[in-house]
Amino acid sequence: MAAQEAANWALACIRPAPPGSPPFSTLTDDQILALHFLFNKTLDKAVRIIEQGGVYRLVAEPSRREVFQVMGNPKENQHYVCFPEHFCSCHAFFFDIVSRGHQICCKHQLAARLAAALQVFKPITVTDVELTQLLLDM
Ligand SMILES: [Zn+2]
Repeated sequence: MAAQEAANWALACIRPAPPGSPPFSTLTDDQILALHFLFNKTLDKAVRIIEQGGVYRLVAEPSRREVFQVMGNPKENQHYVCFPEHFCSCHAFFFDIVSRGHQICCKHQLAARLAAALQVFKPITVTDVELTQLLLDM
């Protein structure tokens, strides 16, 4: 099984945390070990982003198109546009994933995928025009 397929499988097995419970409470020890094996240090960084509340799911109305915005460096108030399985607007995505193929995904993509699986992102409704402008500004 290729690393990407294993990652997809591991992430698909994650169930959302019940309301009011800690965000990672549904993860089993085996799931944590599998995720750590697959993502190594990227997992730690993604977990930190989620714990800091840095994952936003933007849903545009009326089209219902969606994209994630994930916190970058909090000191610089950076946020990256992220299509969790395919793209992130950060530099690491282009250097480490696209150019060198050293990683499966960047920390922002993993944070978005984990937050989606655990249902711990912050939902934000925007207009279709606002979403279009966000994508044009990348
Ligand atoms: Zn990224």
